[in-house]
Amino acid sequence: MSEVSLSGQCELCVHQSTPIPIRVFPCLYHCKKMLCISHLSEHDQYLEKQLHLQKQLANLWENYQTRFNEDKWQKELDKLKNKLEKYRQLKEAINHVLGINQFNDSMEDNDKFQRLMQTVQDAIREEDQTNVVPSKFYYSIEKSK
Ligand SMILES: [Zn+2]
Ligand SMILES: [Zn+2]
Repeated sequence: MSEVSLSGQCELCVHQSTPIPIRVFPCLYHCKKMLCISHLSEHDQYLEKQLHLQKQLANLWENYQTRFNEDKWQKELDKLKNKLEKYRQLKEAINHVLGINQFNDSMEDNDKFQRLMQTVQDAIREEDQTNVVPSKFYYSIEKSK
C-alpha cells in the first residue's frame, strides 16, 4: 500500500479545504480513489463490511432456495390454471345447454345432458377429494341425489 503513496488531496477530505498536500493512497482494488490514510482505512472497513453482508445475503438466499422448490410451484400453478380453464369450459357448456329454452326430444340432446351430468359429477367428486372439508354446497348436492 505504501509503495503507491503520493502527495495530493484526499478525495473525501476536499470539503475540508486543506490546501496542504497530504499523503494519499489509491483504493487499489475497488474505486481507484485517492484517499488519506484515515479515509482509506474507513473506506476499507466499509468495504469489508459490505463483502461480509453480501456473503450473508448470498447464504440466506441459498438457504431459502433449497427450501423453495420452484419447479414444484410452477407445476402447481400449471395444474391450477388447467383446473380453472376446465371449469370455465364446463361452465360455458352448461350455461349453453341450460340456456336452450326449447324442449327438444332428440336423442342427441339427452345424450349431451347425460354426458355433461357425468362430467359435473366427476368434477364434484374430484373437488370433494381435493377439499379436506367438503363445502355445504356439495353436501346438499350429494344428499339430493
Ligand atoms: Zn481523507
Ligand atoms: Zn474504493
